[in-house]
Amino acid sequence: MTSVSESDTTGLGEIQRDAARVNVDDKAMINARADVNQLLPLKYRWAWDKYLAACNNHWMPTEVAMQADIALWKSRDGLTEDERLTLKRNLGFFATAESLVANNIVLAVYRHLTNPECRQYLLRQAFEEAVHTHTFQYICESLGLDEGELFNMYREIPSITEKDAWALRYTQNLEDPDFATGTPEADQAFLRDLVAFYVVFEGMWFYTGFAQILSLGRRNKMVGIAEQYQYILRDESIHLNFGIDVINQIKIENPHLWTEEFQAEVRTMLAEACELEVAYGRETMPRGILGLNAELCEQYMHVITNRRAEQIGLAPLFPEAENPFPWMSEMMDLKKEKNFFETRVIEYQTGGGLDWD
Ligand code: FE
Ligand code: MN
Repeated sequence: MTSVSESDTTGLGEIQRDAARVNVDDKAMINARADVNQLLPLKYRWAWDKYLAACNNHWMPTEVAMQADIALWKSRDGLTEDERLTLKRNLGFFATAESLVANNIVLAVYRHLTNPECRQYLLRQAFEEAVHTHTFQYICESLGLDEGELFNMYREIPSITEKDAWALRYTQNLEDPDFATGTPEADQAFLRDLVAFYVVFEGMWFYTGFAQILSLGRRNKMVGIAEQYQYILRDESIHLNFGIDVINQIKIENPHLWTEEFQAEVRTMLAEACELEVAYGRETMPRGILGLNAELCEQYMHVITNRRAEQIGLAPLFPEAENPFPWMSEMMDLKKEKNFFETRVIEYQTGGGLDWD
């Protein structure tokens, strides 16, 4: 009995005519021996369930009315100068962040995650990142923002550059065609990239931005953008939880990778990421806006950092931290979120399926 040659983790190698049928036990998160082109038999139900949940959450930014936002943005005293600065730097981070995340998924994560149900989810996630980038194109066009300014902030606003440069360090060798998993060093490099993008980028760095926009929305300002951010937050909750499940499943299957030293390294990554986010909070809210300032966002980031650490089995970094934005946890709770978006979700579920009876 031969299984697919170990080097064929792409699914694009020669067809193994004499290989045995896929045994579910041969399926694995990384370095799998089972054919990656065969979705069934399923091994990881959680990955498939996330794919289904994500499809049920389908939305497009152009479905959200922007008239109120446009009127407010163009009116002379609808927003304070501080609110305008916060909004622009917020959009400036996301405008390119969604592309960075998408590129990491498609060019690094996808190649090395050797499980078809996880790849199925990644294909859906990649499309959602395209929808998110589309959202910032749509906002830019609707409000008549300077597109050069918006899409260059990741080069021109230091706290945004610092965050993106930090994350890119972890993806840079993975997209090298010569990089392959299969040694403890390479597998740990892959885990670091998953931590950097799923836990930190999508799991920590999006949350200051969500809090800023949703806080404006709660005060009836930029309600169209706030609605779009709620949809993005709903998508990102699944991205994050998928990433957490992937990391934890890789740990279960490869306990030798999760050494004391490696855990200490991941804690250091979370601490650095938290600091970078605090700096971003200061640069987006140098004087604060009503109900929100850099100090509160720092506290909030401590709470988020603790939660992410806990989700991958690490002790909290800031045990004394308390959540200054209880209203954010309501928005993040997936069950409540589902209630929150219920009409929409149901609309898509009934509208999206074809009835052949
Ligand atoms: Fe996204
Ligand atoms: Mn995402």
